[in-house]
Amino acid sequence: MPGLDVMLEKLKILADSAKYDVSCSSSGADRTKTNKMGTAAVSGICHSWSADGRCISLLKILFSNRCVYDCEYCVNRRSADVQRASFEPEELAKLTIEFYKRNYIEGLFLSSAVEVSPDYTAERILKALSLLREKYGFSGYIHAKIIPGVSAELVRQIGMQADRLSVNIELPTKESLAILAPQKKAAGILTPMRQITNTMKEQKSLKGAGNRFSKLKQGNDYLLNGMALPTAVREQEAKYGMVPYDKGSLHRFAPAGQTTQMIIGATPESDRQIIRMSESLYKKFQMKRVYFSAYIPVVSSSKLPALLTPPPLLREHRLYQADWLLRFYGFSAEELLDEDSPFFDLELDPKVTWALRHLELFPLEINKVSMEELLRIPGVGNISAMRIVRQRRLGAVTFDDLKKIGVVVKRARYFITCNGKYYGAGDIASECIRERMLSQEKIRSGLLPREKEEQLSLFGSERRNLLYEPKEAARGLLV
Ligand code: SF4
Repeated sequence: MPGLDVMLEKLKILADSAKYDVSCSSSGADRTKTNKMGTAAVSGICHSWSADGRCISLLKILFSNRCVYDCEYCVNRRSADVQRASFEPEELAKLTIEFYKRNYIEGLFLSSAVEVSPDYTAERILKALSLLREKYGFSGYIHAKIIPGVSAELVRQIGMQADRLSVNIELPTKESLAILAPQKKAAGILTPMRQITNTMKEQKSLKGAGNRFSKLKQGNDYLLNGMALPTAVREQEAKYGMVPYDKGSLHRFAPAGQTTQMIIGATPESDRQIIRMSESLYKKFQMKRVYFSAYIPVVSSSKLPALLTPPPLLREHRLYQADWLLRFYGFSAEELLDEDSPFFDLELDPKVTWALRHLELFPLEINKVSMEELLRIPGVGNISAMRIVRQRRLGAVTFDDLKKIGVVVKRARYFITCNGKYYGAGDIASECIRERMLSQEKIRSGLLPREKEEQLSLFGSERRNLLYEPKEAARGLLV
């Protein structure tokens, strides 16, 4: 093992090189106070969300940033003038387990540049993961990147060690891939994606998969519990120099599924193309997530946006909102954008934009429409839709109930009626609603002044009028 200084230098270079990959959900934060404990940015610790909603810390790092490819958009490309470093498998395994023991991290997010060839890099990654799992007994979360073009055997072996796999699609079309990353081929990206999907399906179909009291005992090469291991498994261990599976180890192929990432704004594709591609990835490959990464110009190239171009963060945000609509609200990509309007409105969210383009479907009566229709109303989320349906069983939902239920009333009011009454004020016309919603947004963000608000006074005019309102006084309700 090299000295501490060398390891720290490698850690610094390889954690910094990994920061543009967003498919682990977030990047390390830069804390500038050097007299305090902890340096998340330098040591590459980022945060991700576990399946049960917990925020977990991951060591986000590249195995190597020495790349034989020359992708135009990448800081680590062969022709870039950057510091280079690579881990040895033992170094990475040791580093991860030491971080884990010190409670700095709960898992590892491991990617790599293409050092020598995809298979050469994948073999070294596999060796590191095998050491980590079998020699150091690490059973925490591992997210491993599969390099496009890697052989099927290695995908399978890495999948047996990792919880989640990802193959980055990088760019939305083959044409852009050919221009910006000519060494990567669409087939080299889609083939491992398909293999991961098929292997997960095959594993799921095994009777008793994941249940140590059933078929698992027969020992198959997805679920190894120390019974008679198939010879093929032992052969593979020897072939790739892996640490032999421990007798008690239980391995499953990528139990947390697969994800991918697409760069936004480096190439001229429309939001429609991007969202259609992402819908097809969810359908074909059962992706857990498609991540979008706003392109940050870090290299100067005539094929890319100029160096000082701001990253399209708002566009990225709109794409994530649209992705949410695809996954949880029953929308299709075709509904969200069409050929005439292929980009999302940056001023309003995609659900509002869709509703404004389909005002013929609104207003919807909150007390009558189906769950599917409720989910189409801007301002109504999954939970509030469920609450509305539940409350309707007890009695009609009133406009005042909506806020308590969790509906964003200031958005929903233009698209609903509540017990037959419309609360949107004014015309149900696309431009009027758009204007009103935009002014609300501007008021919220401080771009427009709020109307003068007055502190209620015991002796103010409104109160005085009420006090002397004859009908109320006669009923003895006031005074
Ligand atoms: S393969 Fe392309 S994107 Fe990946 S590290 Fe190498 S140059 Fe960068």
